Amino acid sequence: MARMPGEMPMKDRDELIAIRRDIHRHPETAFEEQRTSDIVAAKLREWGLDVHRGLARTGVVGTLKGRRPGQRAIGLRADMDALNLQELNQFAHRSSHDGKMHACGHDGHTTMLLGAARRLAADPDFAGTLYFIFQPAEEGQGGARVMMEEGLFDLFPCDAVYGMHNMPGMPAGQFAIRPGPLLAASDSWSMIFRGTGGHGAMPHRGTDPTMPAAAFITATQTIAGRNVAASDAAVVSVGHIQAGSAGSPNVIPAQVTVSGTARSYSPAVRDVIERRLGELGHSLAAAHGCTAEYEYQRRYPPLINAPEQTALAIRAAEQTVGRDRVDPDTAPLTGAEDFAFMLERKPGAYIFIGNGVDSEGGCHYVHTPHYDFNDEIISTGVAWWVNLVRQELGAP
Ligand SMILES: [Zn+2]
Ligand SMILES: [Zn+2]
Repeated sequence: MARMPGEMPMKDRDELIAIRRDIHRHPETAFEEQRTSDIVAAKLREWGLDVHRGLARTGVVGTLKGRRPGQRAIGLRADMDALNLQELNQFAHRSSHDGKMHACGHDGHTTMLLGAARRLAADPDFAGTLYFIFQPAEEGQGGARVMMEEGLFDLFPCDAVYGMHNMPGMPAGQFAIRPGPLLAASDSWSMIFRGTGGHGAMPHRGTDPTMPAAAFITATQTIAGRNVAASDAAVVSVGHIQAGSAGSPNVIPAQVTVSGTARSYSPAVRDVIERRLGELGHSLAAAHGCTAEYEYQRRYPPLINAPEQTALAIRAAEQTVGRDRVDPDTAPLTGAEDFAFMLERKPGAYIFIGNGVDSEGGCHYVHTPHYDFNDEIISTGVAWWVNLVRQELGAP
């Protein structure tokens, strides 16, 4: 394929590819990224950074001061964890751990941020301080939140934070971002309807929780349709229903559990979903002589890019690959990402880098067993990080 922008010396490039494939071959899941964090810490020390370990168990933070004086400090963040998934690729660097796989490209994210640390340590021509934040457990476990709870921003006070994720199906090395909401809040909820249950032939002798449950499932769709403005977006989906026993279809169950997921892009819409699910569940239960027990669990918040930092991220991307290869107003996605926790606390921006389309071998979507991070974009990703630092901390 064509040489990617931001090309680096062959020796440096080969070292990064070797690191990426080594991490891919040894995937580690939430809070168990011991070997990966050993590699990250060793490399950062080798390149002269101060290294702090142990936040959220396996988190690593490398500190690099610029050659020029400056009070500003920014955090550059990558995730290190793999997924519980059986890899079906056959190449030499496929997973050597059964049932675990780097299927989201966090091996590549870690490598690109390492490459940026090496480059900036070799030429720290910036004013201020960089914190390279390598976090565990992005996938479902909120490693970013745990690092913050354990004092990340007290120990390493950042004025702004940045993150990057690869995007299969987007041409290799292109960038996409938008100011404002980019990824959705991801929440889970459950409603347990309780009645007396009874004999299926004599329902009038008891109360039947399948009635409010059925009405509730239909009514969940009125939240997006009737409570959220058409200009806002919301998704409420039922993913699990549990009641009764398959061997006893003539018994009305005493309990029906309905649970699902909810996605939204703003705190206000998120509040509406939580409130309306509760109102619907409780009122429908009461209407049928039953009770309802409701639980709403806020998992990941919406990921909201700050306008000023997004503009800097766009400028860095344009500097890296040219204006025509940067989409500055991409559509929001309904996926979620725990970097959103950091963006709740600090202004910052999160950008997508294309992992490649079909002909470039980067098209398998993340979280699928044939996915692989595209090594051809490592140098572009490193160049974006370096250009971002020049944008952020360039002026003395
Ligand atoms: Zn993922
Ligand atoms: Zn990911």
